[in-house]
Amino acid sequence: MLEFQKVVREAELLPPPEFQLETQSIEFRTDPLISTRTRINVQRAGRLTEAKKVDLSDYINKTREDCLFCPENIEKTTPLFVKDIWEEGRIKNRCYVLFPNRYPFGEYHAVGTLTDKHFLDLDEFPLEPIVDNLLACKEYVLTVYKKKGARYPTWIWNHLPPSAASQVHPHTQIWIDTEPTNWTGALIKKSKEYFDKNKRSYWEDLVEKEKDRERWVGENDSLAIIATFAPHGNREIQFIFKEASNLAELSERQANDLVDCVLKTLKWYKEEGMNSFNLSTFSAGVDEKLNYYRLNVKMMSKPVFQPDYPYYTAYGGTVELWHGEYVVDTLPENVAQKLKHIFR
Ligand SMILES: [Zn+2]
Repeated sequence: MLEFQKVVREAELLPPPEFQLETQSIEFRTDPLISTRTRINVQRAGRLTEAKKVDLSDYINKTREDCLFCPENIEKTTPLFVKDIWEEGRIKNRCYVLFPNRYPFGEYHAVGTLTDKHFLDLDEFPLEPIVDNLLACKEYVLTVYKKKGARYPTWIWNHLPPSAASQVHPHTQIWIDTEPTNWTGALIKKSKEYFDKNKRSYWEDLVEKEKDRERWVGENDSLAIIATFAPHGNREIQFIFKEASNLAELSERQANDLVDCVLKTLKWYKEEGMNSFNLSTFSAGVDEKLNYYRLNVKMMSKPVFQPDYPYYTAYGGTVELWHGEYVVDTLPENVAQKLKHIFR
């Protein structure tokens, strides 16, 4: 059955200027489904010199000048879908425009803008355009699935350079693969093994076990919101759908509920002084309505982007990329307690 395993170990050191004995605790946590390991030391948050008041206005103005995604350029600077995929070239609605990624890493890989504005801060995103974007992505997913048979969609949102976004202008990405990504594939496989062994859904067990406990943030009609036990990044939040197992199943109502959770989390990231984040969905295949798997979504905050202060650290170094372990400095239980008020 589902277990939250952790071991606390201590590191001793003699830090300057007094060189007196100091002990720091490191929690080694194992993900209950996938067994990846996370190392949490909350004192690592003190590594960086106190972030100064970050002023992004120069950076935003500079990148505004020749932004590919701003309304006056987007028609000239972004690719069109081949006719076979989307006759009109781009998928358009009120606020979003969806078009192929200029440098795709999959056969069906698109980018969607979220606003006409070149920059929005984390607490400035309105709900409708993001719901529109998500539903446009769903339409693209269904089209690709029908015409080409690729069926594993991933919807992601990177914001500002620390998240690996190359464009400042707010945008999301969607791609559809024939095979799930490594991570999604492992989640689906492990969920199936868990179900076969326990005759219960891992995701139902997870929600039941976390409900109203220290990592529980809240819920709405469509989703449960939890701070991940063994997170892969700081301030990691997980949204677990109660009904859907894949992205193409989402109704407008479910899309609304997801975006509402995302925007509340962004408001809190802003309160915490953050300005950059990542979001990703982990979806079963388009034609799969799996009783042992739930569509789920994760968000994490990224190091604060400070263009005039080049000493901010990058996220995702040797430990994450080559050793498959995650070093985190926020405690999930604190994350949940701090985020809760926005969901009330
Ligand atoms: Zn722009």
